[in-house]
Amino acid sequence: MVTLSKAQAATQAARLAQVRPELAKAYAVALARWMGDRKLMLLGLPIVTEGYRSDAMQAAYYAQGRQTPYQIHLLRQAAGLGDLPAVEAKRIITYKLPGTSNHNKLPSWALDVALLQADSSVKWDPAALLLFSRLMRAADERVTWGGDWNHNGRTDDEHLNDWPHFELIG
Ligand SMILES: [Zn+2]
Repeated sequence: MVTLSKAQAATQAARLAQVRPELAKAYAVALARWMGDRKLMLLGLPIVTEGYRSDAMQAAYYAQGRQTPYQIHLLRQAAGLGDLPAVEAKRIITYKLPGTSNHNKLPSWALDVALLQADSSVKWDPAALLLFSRLMRAADERVTWGGDWNHNGRTDDEHLNDWPHFELIG
C-alpha cells in the first residue's frame, strides 16, 4: 500500500491550496473514492505533481523541445527549477506560452496528476489516468481531462493527449 510521508502530504496540501476550490474539491472526492478501492490502489496512489505554475516556469517548459539546452538551463534557473535530463529537454511538453496556460492563474484552474508507486517511482499511465478521470468527472462534471478534451469518451481523437492534466472549464 502506497502512503505519503508527512513531507509529501504537506507538499500535496500546499499545491492544492493554490488550486481553485471547486477543482481541489473534485480532486479530494475522486482521491477518496480511489483510495477506497483496493483494485484501483494497485495502480498507485494519485498525487498532484503541479497546480499553479508561474509564468517563469511556463517559459522554461515552453522552451523544451524548442530552444538549446543552455537556454533551457537559464530559463529553469530563473524559474527556480533544477536541470533536466538531456532527453527531456528535447521533448515538447506544452503548446502554451507564459500566461496562457490554465496553470498560470492563481489560484490555478488546472492540476496535473500522476500515480505514486510502492517503489517511490511515479507513473503517468493513460489507462490508470482514464479511470481517475471518470472519478473526477463524477465528482464534478465541469472538470475536463486532457486525455479527452471533447468529452466524447474517446482518447484517440484528440489533437494532443495531455494525460496528467485536469482543468475546470473557464
Ligand atoms: Zn497540466
